Amino acid sequence: MAVAKVSLLDALHEHFGFDSFKGNQEKIIKSILSGKDTFVIMPTGGGKSLCYQLPALMSPGVALIVSPLIALMKNQVDLIRSYSSKDNVAHFLNSTLTKAQIKKVRTDLQSGKTKMLYVAPETLTKQENIDFFRELEISFIAVDEAHCISEWGHDFRPEYRRLKEMIDLVGSNLPIIALTATATPKVQSDIVKNLELRTPEVFISSFNRPNLYYEIRPKRKKDQTIKEIVKFIHLHKGKSGIIYTLNRKTTEELADMLVANGIKAVAYHAGLDSGTRAQRQDMFLLEEVEVIVATIAFGMGIDKPDVRFVIHYNIPKSLENYYQETGRGGRDGLEGLCLCFYSYKDVQKLEHLMRDKPLSEREMGAQLINETVAYAESAVCRRKVILHYFGEKYETENCGKCDNCRNPKEKIEVKNRVVIALKAISRLEERFGSDYVINIITGKSNPQISTFQHDKLDVFGEGKEFDAHFWNSLLRQMMLEGLIEKDIEEYGLLKITEKGKKFMKKPFSIYVALNHQFDEE
Ligand code: ADP
Ligand code: ZN
Repeated sequence: MAVAKVSLLDALHEHFGFDSFKGNQEKIIKSILSGKDTFVIMPTGGGKSLCYQLPALMSPGVALIVSPLIALMKNQVDLIRSYSSKDNVAHFLNSTLTKAQIKKVRTDLQSGKTKMLYVAPETLTKQENIDFFRELEISFIAVDEAHCISEWGHDFRPEYRRLKEMIDLVGSNLPIIALTATATPKVQSDIVKNLELRTPEVFISSFNRPNLYYEIRPKRKKDQTIKEIVKFIHLHKGKSGIIYTLNRKTTEELADMLVANGIKAVAYHAGLDSGTRAQRQDMFLLEEVEVIVATIAFGMGIDKPDVRFVIHYNIPKSLENYYQETGRGGRDGLEGLCLCFYSYKDVQKLEHLMRDKPLSEREMGAQLINETVAYAESAVCRRKVILHYFGEKYETENCGKCDNCRNPKEKIEVKNRVVIALKAISRLEERFGSDYVINIITGKSNPQISTFQHDKLDVFGEGKEFDAHFWNSLLRQMMLEGLIEKDIEEYGLLKITEKGKKFMKKPFSIYVALNHQFDEE
């Protein structure tokens, strides 16, 4: 690629008015300008857009930028135009444009004035567009939100799977730059494979958000949890915050409760018409309300720098979601408090939501949920668990900014109790779920148990000195330790793993931090 001979810094200053690059930006831009396939993994707010915008402005031809959200495309284009004196430097092409608008975009593209064209994946599936693009000089292809390619990502879009095929139709050997704010090692390899990146230069920025404080609290009865939330918000009076819930009804209920308690709050979810949604989003951005109570429909592309707290009323369906949603707090680098209420009932709700999905999706979903449960129930530094999830090592002994580092949990030796649990599952021939197993261990009979005569088993009541909450928590810890697993196909039946079988033959010492208060909803 021929590049005009100005220094990158000069170009940065000229086009964006910034004096220095952030993080890996300069290296990334050099890689793109040299025509290499490039893979950028950078948390939200890190400055990804500039990584392809500047090279696009400096290269001959036009860069195609694939972006999944039509609404975001318009924002991006408006933003670039605000930096540039020329309106036609950037355009987008998607289903919202009229015929006349499309014609104007095409004319600008043909004249060579346009340096960036944002397209939806659908745009690339249309033959007439492909034919048109083939006639243009394309500098490179940027695939934004590249995690949408992977089913392991938090926002899978099947159309993203066909991107490479379509890119090849537009031109041969076009450099590809993939960008994402979220990529676990699994998602990363999916992206490289699917886009067939050729020995890409990979730039991974740290995902640590040092200014965010993470805390998990047991979720108790509804009124009590709402009281806790109200108290928390009153402590942070006048500050902006987001509360995430699992469903639309809860957003409305919770917002009403907050309003009744003197907090300016509105609900936000996909069931509202787009006018109302836009209005409420603006109310939040303009600080006419302090709190927005939302489903995950809220947030993509929201850039309010001073969100001071993010509360999860329900645990999200993956750690990736959790990271993204909490990541909307403290984007200005100042305080961001991330509070999550956790109960195992909410986990069961998430599992229930998947019941009609195909098996492979259920398996994947269950695994993602398990990782979130592990996070919630862990006694380890929250930051460490999150960063580990993104394939990053975090060595700091005490981060000082999570509940587990501030108040370390006590661990107890549970070898003998694990033996009892495994024995119960084995005596029941691995044909029952946890509730049934716990009834056996704690010696609580019911008609089904007496019909099967399971109350005659030697293990019946062997663990009655601990209550059902305790055993529930222990079974989950045993799952996390890989001693037992839930059968996904026959939903919920407890099975003993190879490791569990080894443990039964030769029990070893095992310590866990138990949070049996986590079940008192
Ligand atoms: P991302 O897409 O990674 O979430 P953005 O591209 O939206 O991040 O950038 C986040 C913010 O950082 C934007 O307000 C952007 O203008 C700003 N920014 C990006 N690069 C620089 C830079 N080199 N110097 C100063 N500000 C920058
Ligand atoms: Zn910590």
